Amino acid sequence: MKRKIPSFIEIYRSLIKIPTISSDNILLDKSNKNFIDLLSNYFADLNFSIQTKQIIHTDKYNMLARIGSGQGGLLLSGHSDTVDFDEKTWTKDPFTLTEQDNKFYGLGAIDMKGFFVFILDVISSINTKKLTKPIYILATANEETDMSGAKYFIESSTIKPECIIIGEPTSLQLINAHKGHISYSIEVIGKTGHASNPEDGINSIEIMHSIIQRLLLLKNFLKQKYQHKNFSIPYPTMNLSSIHGGDAINRICSICTLNLEIRPIPGLTLLQVEKLIQENLQSIITRWYNRIFIKKLYSSIPSYQCSYKKNTTRIVEKLCKSKCTTVNYCTEAPFLQKIAPTLILGPGSIEQAHQPDEYLDMSFIKPTKNIINKLIHAFCF
Ligand SMILES: [Zn+2]
Repeated sequence: MKRKIPSFIEIYRSLIKIPTISSDNILLDKSNKNFIDLLSNYFADLNFSIQTKQIIHTDKYNMLARIGSGQGGLLLSGHSDTVDFDEKTWTKDPFTLTEQDNKFYGLGAIDMKGFFVFILDVISSINTKKLTKPIYILATANEETDMSGAKYFIESSTIKPECIIIGEPTSLQLINAHKGHISYSIEVIGKTGHASNPEDGINSIEIMHSIIQRLLLLKNFLKQKYQHKNFSIPYPTMNLSSIHGGDAINRICSICTLNLEIRPIPGLTLLQVEKLIQENLQSIITRWYNRIFIKKLYSSIPSYQCSYKKNTTRIVEKLCKSKCTTVNYCTEAPFLQKIAPTLILGPGSIEQAHQPDEYLDMSFIKPTKNIINKLIHAFCF
């Protein structure tokens, strides 16, 4: 079939060239509009119908492209944004696709602009007139920050594909579960005074000490109570990440702040984690009324598991000729799986994601095209 779009490498180059950095720092954060427009044009050239939607109150966009009609089908999903980069550590231009030593370098080469290049390349050589079920392509915004693109998509989506594949770099290993992430900042506000008279003030470090004791009990409880044998660390983890408090040696410490994160396994919800934190600290909070402030940091991500009871899992395992496994990083899967069984499978290694000189090893090219082709034929023909 005659190509209607540029070559693999030309598309790759054009997508890497457009900065789509997502960052909590507004000075670094960029709109992904140009990227979504270009991607939409490529898919439109392959006769896809395109829907782009602006995420409310932002300059970020999602794209949903569809070809073929009917029920079911396949949704291939990726995020359009990348993380920020550190100029001092990159030896190559992050926005110029550089081919060297059998690798393609560039920011987003695997995480995850490259996935769209593969999809376009495979579909350009398929006779889409013979599709019996739809192929959907989703490009989301803000995956690297608050995942608002994926959250917005599922709120307004009416499609029901049979299978969703997220092309995050898994070295083409099939993934059906990952842990979640929730983080807190706990601030204790005591009352300062001269160190020579401790009774004169309220020492926030001492209150924080009792909070930490409770948290460590909770940490142990989580480890004992919740187990998931498919993870290398088979229980929910808690990490006390940083603590700050006090100033002068002769002053009672008035403010002490602790940051911590918890990574729940599938089976432990974010709501349960929040309840456990509240319950474990309640008596201290009551005793020191209006002196302890707990707030969530960042956007929480639920754990995720695509069940083996789903037919989809077995079909994709068969295509990949391998069993599902688990990873320790978070993706949009817990959100997207609300509309259909979702698995994670993509080219490139997570070891190179978010790293200087991010690259795709060219050894992934052939097997990735092959597996995308098989997925489309299994779910859409
Ligand atoms: Zn990613």
